[in-house]
Amino acid sequence: MASRLNDFSDDFDKGASTKRRVVDPFYQSRSQKRMRRHTLKMLPSDWVSRFVRIKDGDTGKVKKIDFSERKYLIRPYNSSAKKMLLMTSRQAEKSTTLGNKLFALSGMRPMYTSLFVSPSAMQTTVFSRTRLDDIVTVSPLLQAMVTKGNTWNILEKVWGNMSMIYLRYAFLTADRIRGLAVNAIFGDELQDLLVDNMPVIEETASHQKDPIYVYSGTPKSLDNNIEQYWAKSSTMTEWAIPCERHGTPKNPASWHWNILGVKNLGLSGPICEQCGGPINPEHPYARWVETNPGDPKRPETRPEFEGYRLCRLMVPWFWKDPGKWKEILEAYERYPTAQFMNEVLAVSYDSGTKPITRAELIRACDSKYTNDLAQVSELAKTHPMYFGIDWGTGQKAYTVLTAWCYCRSDDALQCVYMYRFEAQEADPEVQVEMIERLVSDLHGKYIGADYGMGFYQNKRLTSTFGPQRIHVFQYAARLPMKVAYSSKLHRYLVFRTPLLADIFHALKRGKLRLPDWEAIKEPFGSDVLSIFSEYSETMKMIKYDKPKSATDDSFHAMVYGVLASFLDHQRPDIITPTQDRSAQASDEYTLFETYAQDVDSEEMENPNQWG
Ligand SMILES: [Zn+2]
Repeated sequence: MASRLNDFSDDFDKGASTKRRVVDPFYQSRSQKRMRRHTLKMLPSDWVSRFVRIKDGDTGKVKKIDFSERKYLIRPYNSSAKKMLLMTSRQAEKSTTLGNKLFALSGMRPMYTSLFVSPSAMQTTVFSRTRLDDIVTVSPLLQAMVTKGNTWNILEKVWGNMSMIYLRYAFLTADRIRGLAVNAIFGDELQDLLVDNMPVIEETASHQKDPIYVYSGTPKSLDNNIEQYWAKSSTMTEWAIPCERHGTPKNPASWHWNILGVKNLGLSGPICEQCGGPINPEHPYARWVETNPGDPKRPETRPEFEGYRLCRLMVPWFWKDPGKWKEILEAYERYPTAQFMNEVLAVSYDSGTKPITRAELIRACDSKYTNDLAQVSELAKTHPMYFGIDWGTGQKAYTVLTAWCYCRSDDALQCVYMYRFEAQEADPEVQVEMIERLVSDLHGKYIGADYGMGFYQNKRLTSTFGPQRIHVFQYAARLPMKVAYSSKLHRYLVFRTPLLADIFHALKRGKLRLPDWEAIKEPFGSDVLSIFSEYSETMKMIKYDKPKSATDDSFHAMVYGVLASFLDHQRPDIITPTQDRSAQASDEYTLFETYAQDVDSEEMENPNQWG
């Protein structure tokens, strides 16, 4: 990294490139005459200075955004990059930046459509009200751009120039986003969006010419989505602050360049990591440096995203105010390391925990069961079989089938067969035929299948085997119980986090057993081990996810198989009832309750907030 920092020449050129004027060709051709008179050849940061006003937190006075104190924001505002990632600490003015970029895009380009998406209804609502509506209220020039009678609500805002902003949320499913067609996507709290939803979100802009993607969030563990984007697909651009006490005075390349981190925490402000002298984040030479630019001679190696790390140590109202700086030092003392790294320094840190270790998973395997179809056929003659299916697309997500039965002398439920459909079997038609044959041959009693990707397949299987045998399950972000049948939706809803926790727990306690480790370790074992858990600040609960490059389909196929077996034998020792339900007499207890209310599977906790 040091050598990159001292390679001083390249970044002045980068600085120049941010001066490129942003002009939309569509607008240019349609109204060239008007353009000459009323030029829009402004940089987004100039536009924001002119049009956007904010309320000063301390005085309540309405004021301009001061870019002279925030030189580091100029390039993220004005860059012509089509894909941008902002990896920020908390309280680093990230939402303001996103909101202003949205204003600038909508204001500078007529008929331009943007989508804002966050993981929860609450976050999207707060953003819509405080970062858009409230700012319009205090900014007369923005107000003038709103035409009375145009749609203007939490989910949709139409400007006088017919530019539009859609606001949506997506946690477990991106269903609310499907079908939208937009020019720009703003994905906020990227760290809490599930990896599998990203393609659906990105699809909304895929048919546009030159779509713009702006993702932002606060880092978490090294496995998290945002770190994968940052380290694997971004330029990893860092704000470098010089200390002139090193090298020769007039030669910037010889100075020491600091990239803000723990070593820059001085007693009363940011210090040089080498000599301990004070450094100035607003130093006239402070600048962005790409630490992962690819090979300049081979443009195809340039990472997809222009990534910027914005940390609290460079935010003016933190480092210039001794009281606020003290808060940072206190947080350093008080916070767990991972939290401090994530939320103050905007650095990923390995705090993600594995819900099951490799050793525990191996212990759950029984070498007697060899994942061999002949053996399974033999068992199926005397034991009812339960199947679980997780449907996949064949690209980064596969269809996996699992089969289970009570064939052991103990009371554990044994998985006897796991199969992943690959290559030419990725065709849904082929899969359905193979599954139909397997279920018939093995006299499958109940089949639990995933709702997500399997609309057509589930329908086919239901017409073959009847609704008594095929049961469709859908994960929900929140639910008053763990599993519930919704007669309206004609499928089961599964409270994802606690249910997955129970399945991991049952594997660890030997209540669920898997075939021989050697026979299943690839890909099935790896799928299970790829899952990690993190506490999601925004969702206020543990979230299970997988790294972007990994698959976890086998685990979900296991979950659906276990759930299918419960249609025969409920196992309160595996899926423990939720607290208020365990108070009921045990003979009344049923895992599969009926849930009659209107269901929004993602936001059970606060269904009225869209009102
Ligand atoms: Zn120094």
